[in-house]
Amino acid sequence: MQIILMGAPGAGKGTQAAFLVERYKIPQISTGDMFRAAVKNGTALGLEAKTYMASGKLVPDTVTIGIVRERLAEGDCKAGFILDGFPRTVEQADALNKILDEQGKKISCVLNISVPSEYLIERAVGRRVCKSCGATYHVKFNPPKVANTCDNCGSDLYQRTDDTASTMQNRLAAYESSTRPLIDYYKKMGVYSEIDGRQTIAKVTEDLINVLTSVKD
Ligand code: ADP
Ligand code: AMP
Repeated sequence: MQIILMGAPGAGKGTQAAFLVERYKIPQISTGDMFRAAVKNGTALGLEAKTYMASGKLVPDTVTIGIVRERLAEGDCKAGFILDGFPRTVEQADALNKILDEQGKKISCVLNISVPSEYLIERAVGRRVCKSCGATYHVKFNPPKVANTCDNCGSDLYQRTDDTASTMQNRLAAYESSTRPLIDYYKKMGVYSEIDGRQTIAKVTEDLINVLTSVKD
């Protein structure tokens, strides 16, 4: 299955991707995670992406499309994948169609986790991520059992440097101008479904699985 998880920053894509990976045994491909790893490792890609990410702007399409093209060519994507945070522009969506065409695949389903903007800043600012395994928590909505400690692996949690109220303003603006148009784009392709992301994490998972169960691959 080729799944695209769409949604504004903080909507819950990464949280839900973790459940879907477990259930469908296909990899999560998060461009945000790939860029953060590159920044951490000080690679050329990281150096290029860093300033855009720090200010909440989108990394240029040519760079982003290049890393996704390479990633989708890897063996673990053969049986499918969950794209999280890609595509974010019409140009990226066009490029993805082309990559999938070349691979003889198609998009199975675009799942948009829809959350109004007034929820998103609180979700992002309260987000905490495990330094080792990347598990995502929220100080209020999904706290770890022991403060600042990952339930899965016991490592410390950290706060992303771009999870501030001011950077979120830019990230939300980028979502509105560049990513929201993809809703109509995928509606026209006949692959779009919307899930109410204001609900609890468990209920959102249930709704996503209900949609996926009815998808013909
Ligand atoms: P995204 O990957 O879309 O940026 P995340 O999955 O990282 O979003 O979620 C952002 C924050 O909101 C995290 O702290 C997460 O624990 C929390 N969160 C995710 N889904 C929900 C939900 N349904 N209700 C409340 N908080 C949520
Ligand atoms: P995320 O982890 O999805 O919240 O992404 C963090 C940051 O990485 C974004 O604010 C962008 O700067 C960058 N980024 C992630 N995915 C993309 C993408 N598909 N296109 C452009 N920039 C991206």
